[in-house]
Amino acid sequence: MSEHRSDLEQRVTALLEAHDPATTGRAAFLRARWDAGLAWVHFPVGLGGLGLPRDLQAYVDDLLAAAGAPDNAPERNGIGLGMAAPTILAHGTPEQHERFLRPLWLGEEIWCQLFSEPGAGSDLAAVATRAVPDEATGEWVVNGQKVWTSSAHLADFAILVARTDPDVPKHGGLSYFLLGMREPGVEVRPLRQLTGEAEFNEVFLTDVRVPGDQLLGSVGEGWRIANTTLNSERVSIGGQAVPREAGMVGKVAETWRTHPGRRTHGTHQRLLDLWVQAEAARITGSRVRQQLAVGAPGPEGSATKLVFARLAQQLSALEVELLGEDGLRYDDWALTRPDKVDFTGRDAGYRYLRAKGNSIEGGTSEILRNIIAERVLGLPGEPRVDKDVAWKDLPR
Ligand SMILES: Cc1cc2nc3c(=O)[nH]c(=O)nc-3n(C[C@H](O)[C@H](O)[C@H](O)COP(=O)(O)OP(=O)(O)OC[C@H]3O[C@@H](n4cnc5c(N)ncnc54)[C@H](O)[C@@H]3O)c2cc1C
Repeated sequence: MSEHRSDLEQRVTALLEAHDPATTGRAAFLRARWDAGLAWVHFPVGLGGLGLPRDLQAYVDDLLAAAGAPDNAPERNGIGLGMAAPTILAHGTPEQHERFLRPLWLGEEIWCQLFSEPGAGSDLAAVATRAVPDEATGEWVVNGQKVWTSSAHLADFAILVARTDPDVPKHGGLSYFLLGMREPGVEVRPLRQLTGEAEFNEVFLTDVRVPGDQLLGSVGEGWRIANTTLNSERVSIGGQAVPREAGMVGKVAETWRTHPGRRTHGTHQRLLDLWVQAEAARITGSRVRQQLAVGAPGPEGSATKLVFARLAQQLSALEVELLGEDGLRYDDWALTRPDKVDFTGRDAGYRYLRAKGNSIEGGTSEILRNIIAERVLGLPGEPRVDKDVAWKDLPR
């Protein structure tokens, strides 16, 4: 590991010497960083990486940040970096790697995730959006409706799960596509949320054409591939690296310190309890990321996502309580379409309202408990009566 570090240090030094961040434009610096294999060091050579252990990325990021180098604004393209990239890397062809990964990492192409539908959220395998091959052109023709699509209003591409065979049981008839969001037939309509913002959307797909080479994996493999995305999604939401006492717990601790008049024995006990839980979650998140680093993202990612959501809601509620009337003040009802969720840069009232979505997005807490029960604790699975029934014969 230490020889990797000294090699990486030399590569970073060479990059900084050839492209001084003080005088090199942001885009040019990021391109040079990709070409040097320092974008994500665990990716293969030629794809922004060096084939090294994943956890060395933090070392590179720290060296570059200390030198004042720009990052690729990861919060702008969370779905692209956190979900689309690992899925494309794992299941894509060399041509797909070549075409999609570089602009994705550079933030030149933003991605969204077209999974959920009005009748298929927790039961993702039930999606009804159809993709039908056009034999004459080799393209796929997609029709259907998606919902709760974060960042669809900003996205250039989407990861899409669609039904390609209605005659087989639901899990077997799905395929996974990379769909251009600027193609004719894609209509994005804002959905206003509890916070007043429209961070997500409905997406209507009418005769949208997807080139044959934008099918990811094989026809019928969509469920297996979607699971790569879902595993990455849970780690990416619940296992983010945060310094001690940062994030939501940092905000509440700050409110506690600056509002001595609001302290009671009861709120003190709650704060201590939540602080300890947040610290345990932070350390567990670090362990999950290490599992990911050795290529073994397990169902434990579901536990970190579950705990993250519960803590965010409890911490934001305590903060609002500590702030009294000030905590309830939330009057920003202008319809805005933010390009990221900014928990720490906003008021307590925003945090309280937005945290409600944490136990729904990326899999509801009930579903994550089911996963933990079945795959971690080995308890009996839910009865699955639709396992052997063709999707077209299921009641809807
Ligand atoms: C802020 C936010 C952002 C989102 N972004 C995206 C996105 O970018 N792309 C995307 O595709 N989707 C996105 N979603 C959608 C999200 O993934 C779904 O809302 C979620 O999977 C739940 O599905 P559903 O809304 O259809 O609820 P349902 O599946 O209808 O569930 C309703 C309730 O029933 C419970 N339930 C359902 N089945 C079971 C079961 N078997 N056992 C126990 N309880 C059960 C659920 O937990 C839930 O409480 C987003 C959601 C939110 C809130």
